[in-house]
Amino acid sequence: MARVNEDFLNLQSGYLFPEVARRIRAWQEKNPGVNVMKLSIGNTTEAITPVIAKAMHRKIELLSDRATYTGYGDEQGDTALRNALSEHYKREYGVNLSPLAFFVSDGAKSDAANIQSIFSRDSIPAIQDPAYPVYVDSNVAGGHTGKYDSSKDAYNGIVYMPSDASNGFIAEPPKEHADLIYLCFPNNPTGAVATKEQLKSFVDYAHREKAIIIFDSAYSDYIETKGIPHSIYEIEGAEDVAIEIGSFSKNAGFTGVRLGWTIVPESLHSDNAPEGTIHRLWNRRQCTFFNGASNISQAGGLAALSEDGRKECISLVGYYKENAKIILEGMKAAGLECYGGVDSPYIWTACPDGMSSWDFFDFLLDKAHVAVTPGSGFGKAGEGFVRISAYGHREDVERAVASIRENL
Ligand code: PLP
Repeated sequence: MARVNEDFLNLQSGYLFPEVARRIRAWQEKNPGVNVMKLSIGNTTEAITPVIAKAMHRKIELLSDRATYTGYGDEQGDTALRNALSEHYKREYGVNLSPLAFFVSDGAKSDAANIQSIFSRDSIPAIQDPAYPVYVDSNVAGGHTGKYDSSKDAYNGIVYMPSDASNGFIAEPPKEHADLIYLCFPNNPTGAVATKEQLKSFVDYAHREKAIIIFDSAYSDYIETKGIPHSIYEIEGAEDVAIEIGSFSKNAGFTGVRLGWTIVPESLHSDNAPEGTIHRLWNRRQCTFFNGASNISQAGGLAALSEDGRKECISLVGYYKENAKIILEGMKAAGLECYGGVDSPYIWTACPDGMSSWDFFDFLLDKAHVAVTPGSGFGKAGEGFVRISAYGHREDVERAVASIRENL
């Protein structure tokens, strides 16, 4: 008899964003003809930039000619792209990583979800609260947690690292032991960034506890504050204890094109894994479960890392950052308490008058016709906040901010 994987049955309710979409749809059905301004999902809205678009067009031309057609590529990614990623880290962050440490993927989400699968089932995950929901859900589905405890609104077996205003939304390393430490900076959803010293405390923890850090740097190009690290490998000793996951989604607009990477250095090691083992297992995993990223996307990614491509990406990021500034200033002027929005496209906004996250979500939808994301969807510590996203056309962002200000 076929039986389903009960670890999947342990997952609680729907994934956050489908639930937000469902509520918006239900509201629209009741209010036909009213346009909802969406500052909810972190989905890019601006066009692919010229150098990158041209490279992808060129790749399609090559694929359209039998003489230059290519089929399957290496599961780990095209050599040229892996070399360019390695160069990019050296040039921009002063970090030396072998091109072989880079595994090109179809985006950060799948790698962030799949990475737990190469670690033992009894590995204890430590996850920031609030957090990008994929870290918790993938650990639940991967059998690394106990059951959900509704009285605590938490899964047994996860070490939650609460991030709130009292710690500047940067959790400290846990007091207890954990094996897999998930960190994301600039943070989704709070927009917080960690200093070198703060990241060093996690690297030290990982060395002490023989743990592995999984560092999600999907938003690194949004950092403008001087001295804030863009990569965990800017911290000495991180190469022995950290995996980093990156993405072309938020800087090159590849949310639909799909391209990312994961860095698994050969020097990484842990308790039963001497140097090289974790690298080898991720390679084995990718070769078996993944058939390589699209060659058209990879051509675009290579162009994005060229000198002109980088200029375009920084300019695209600048557009969203300007949106973030407009939102941040608008929300502050409306009297709301806000965090993030400087080194990040997200403005983490406290709900007024003791409202819950979903109450404020409903209020903004009903009164201002603006959709945001309820903070509680990112974890218990997100209750009492909403996340406002800077991804949108400028004119829509301006209209949404004006509408919130008028209706609050
Ligand atoms: N990591 C974080 C923290 C994110 O917020 C997102 C998307 O919103 C992703 C990863 C997914 O990135 P990708 O589009 O590369 O899968």
